[in-house]
Amino acid sequence: MSTPILEIRNLKKYYKVGPNKKNDLKAVDDVSFTVHKGEIFGIVGESGCGKSTMGKSILRLIEPTEGEVILNGEDLVKLDSAEMREKRKDIQIIFQDPFASLNPRMKVFKIIEEPLINFKIGTKEERRKRVIEVAKQVGLTENHLQRFPHEFSGGQRQRIGIARAIVTNPKVIIADEPVSALDVSIQSQVLNIMKDLNENLGITFIFISHDLNVVHHFCDKIGVMYLGKLVEIAEKNELFNNAKHPYTKALLSALPKSHPKEVKQRTVLKGDVPSPSNPPTGCTFHPRCPNAMESCKTSVPKLSNYNTEHKVSCLLYETVEVVK
Ligand code: ADP
Repeated sequence: MSTPILEIRNLKKYYKVGPNKKNDLKAVDDVSFTVHKGEIFGIVGESGCGKSTMGKSILRLIEPTEGEVILNGEDLVKLDSAEMREKRKDIQIIFQDPFASLNPRMKVFKIIEEPLINFKIGTKEERRKRVIEVAKQVGLTENHLQRFPHEFSGGQRQRIGIARAIVTNPKVIIADEPVSALDVSIQSQVLNIMKDLNENLGITFIFISHDLNVVHHFCDKIGVMYLGKLVEIAEKNELFNNAKHPYTKALLSALPKSHPKEVKQRTVLKGDVPSPSNPPTGCTFHPRCPNAMESCKTSVPKLSNYNTEHKVSCLLYETVEVVK
């Protein structure tokens, strides 16, 4: 897992808001991280912290304001629109609401085949075989392919969304809250399909979720996002056992106990997530932070190495080395 496949460098997405559109709403604010080949990289944080904007900016479904998105050595942000369209073969997205992203008037076969037609891949017969192959990979039968999306349950619709995303053989999939709309009993089935795709086809995932439990179950590495910034990145067990950022600790403390005898100290976060159009000064987490110091009101912490596998952005741990 040592080859980087995707490097996000200083990615920003600012929206112009307010009177005369003069204020910047910093939805994604200088985010950098590296995803290695075959990895499942989770992005977690409360609603509104910029996860979805970041996912879409990586794919340029939303144009980033600044930054680089290096896929296999090539900066996607520099591509013109035709080149970018071509690249979407290699980097695909799965959305939370599969129904909204599936054309209700198309039969499932056509829905899955469509990207192959758009990218001019294969003959009609080759496409037919490929559609049947990916349908099987996600647990759909040939019979399902002749039906319309409304005839399916939420979990099955997400299978269709996944089949459509993998039909062009992508290297990377961004999964944006892919199981959040599903019943808990169905969530693990869909997660297992994606895990199989990761293990058997080597597809790399960026997995966006507000749900730490799901992220823990599914991801190898986790980035915690707060108000447009990544505040902590670590391998998942390191993050769960040795979280450093007070925000991560608070999120973890809100999880149900995994064992009845486990002693948990719950940190209740003060107030709501502030608006990214008028963020607090210094460390943007300081007004809600149980460990805030005077300096947190004025100094902006940098994402720094806590150890080689663990980065944190907090003045409590700030080291000399700054991670670029
Ligand atoms: P998340 O996916 O973590 O819930 P989002 O990426 O959807 O967060 O949103 C991050 C912030 O950007 C929010 O404050 C949201 O209101 C704001 N935002 C998202 N899209 C727009 C837009 N088109 N114009 C202005 N603000 C936006």
